[in-house]
Amino acid sequence: MYMIHQLRKLGLSIRAFEAGSDVGGTWYWNRYPGARCDVPSIEYSFSFDKELEQEWNWSEVMASQEEILVYANHIAERHDIRRDIAFNTRVIRMEFDDTRDSWLVETDHGESLYAHYCVMATGCLSMPNKPPIAGDKDFRGEVYHTGTWPKEGVDFVGKKVGIIGTGSSGVQAIPVIAESAEELVIFQRTPVYTLPAFNRPLSDKYRNEVKASYADIRKMQRESPVGISSFGTRAVAQVPVPQKIVDLTPEERQAELARTGFSGLRTYADVLSDLSANEIACDLYRDKIEEIIDNPETAEGLKPHGYPIGCKRQVFDSNYYAAFNRDNVTLVDLRKGGIERITATSVQTDQGQFDLDVLVYATGFDAMTGALKRIDIRGRGGQRLTDKWVDGPRAYLGIQMAGFPNLFTITGPGSPSVLSNMLVAIEQHVDWIRDCLEHLETEHIDTIEPTEDAENKWVDHVNEVGQGTMFTAPTCNSWYLGANIVGKPRIFMPYVGGIHRYRAKCEAVVANNYEGFRLE
Ligand code: NAP
Repeated sequence: MYMIHQLRKLGLSIRAFEAGSDVGGTWYWNRYPGARCDVPSIEYSFSFDKELEQEWNWSEVMASQEEILVYANHIAERHDIRRDIAFNTRVIRMEFDDTRDSWLVETDHGESLYAHYCVMATGCLSMPNKPPIAGDKDFRGEVYHTGTWPKEGVDFVGKKVGIIGTGSSGVQAIPVIAESAEELVIFQRTPVYTLPAFNRPLSDKYRNEVKASYADIRKMQRESPVGISSFGTRAVAQVPVPQKIVDLTPEERQAELARTGFSGLRTYADVLSDLSANEIACDLYRDKIEEIIDNPETAEGLKPHGYPIGCKRQVFDSNYYAAFNRDNVTLVDLRKGGIERITATSVQTDQGQFDLDVLVYATGFDAMTGALKRIDIRGRGGQRLTDKWVDGPRAYLGIQMAGFPNLFTITGPGSPSVLSNMLVAIEQHVDWIRDCLEHLETEHIDTIEPTEDAENKWVDHVNEVGQGTMFTAPTCNSWYLGANIVGKPRIFMPYVGGIHRYRAKCEAVVANNYEGFRLE
């Protein structure tokens, strides 16, 4: 939506295609119960509309999906965004035609058109992953995926519900579904390390303080590694522990655990940089689970083992563990044996057969590359993007790929994207692309694309800065690494160097006359 808004200022003619029936992207599709943001709402908002900043009143620290979708709809109306969008339309094929220096774009409605520039705003977590399970097509009950939740909602009352997956989506959905379902069975392959979300309503006093400080907040966001200001971090409870965990005695660690709960464990100076310190924090995490879960077998099943805190995307929860103390909730620990098959009425595992009326997949996404690879994209000489990326994504700055001129990716692989507040990352990319197109238009430049050399160096740099972090620990398997999709190359896809440094790099590239790009 912001790209459309900016492109209009350049006087370009625009066609946007959207698979959904309306705006909102991730907040349009992910309508599952409990869905909400895990970044404070005052930060997870557009900065380009200063009047809107003053007019909009976020109700909670971390807004619900419903509230964010209302916000997205409001922006669409306020800036008359919808008139350039063809809804219910998927782009299925794109081919660069070098006789016209344009892309031939084809949709699933049989429409085709030429575009001189293409901007892919296809999202990082937009291609749902529904893993094939033997017998899954036989199931006669209701089946849902958290990432494509029906608009009309789902009534769980009086039903036996199964849910597969305990990532961010599962952790948010489980406590809410448990409240209405007759029974909830959770099929968990890997237990998570969660942090309490500390969500709560926002006061008028706080909102007014934020509104008076937006200029500073936006500046702090741009200068911070993850696109979040100290205002946002202040909104969630901070219980920092000052020292290294390895320097404390076991008694001192237990005392800190009693004081801070799960929240303190990530804040030790060494936990996210030293694997042995991390393992001490993991032990404490497991101790805490034992304390808060009533049933010892369930507690054992919820204890994460074998991978460090900080390897996967941090999961924030509201009442997640409390759900496991309810009589109508059963945990099935798939580490003891996976799902064998799905029948017409049940899920069968080593630990028994579970009869179900509803099966919910909270099994995540083919992240970062899935939505782009789903389109048959062919660059210069007919080169397919899927061939170029066969060993993992390759792009310069996560914005453009060599061999694919005038094609831009917003928050593409190799950019901070999912390691940043997404709104900050999106605005930075949109502004960069707008400025770039303005430059091309005013200088009468037909095409821009990165050189292979610049692309190779950037990909090496992205890999290099990822090394030594918990994200790439040998025991880590996350969607950041593509490890959640069978056969996907194990590559750390986002740029972990921080959005502040990344922004400076992008600005330096422009200042050096688009260094690393070929302009023709
Ligand atoms: P996810 O983090 O990839 O979690 C998927 C879950 O499904 C994992 O527990 C995974 O187990 C399990 N799973 C996958 N295939 C399975 C199989 N064949 N059998 C059993 N279990 C299986 O996906 P997500 O929860 O949708 O979250 C993805 C990302 O979206 C998040 O990390 C976050 O960035 C974003 N998100 C954000 C929010 C928010 O803002 N609050 C909410 C939801 C999502 P394994 O761990 O063993 O693979």
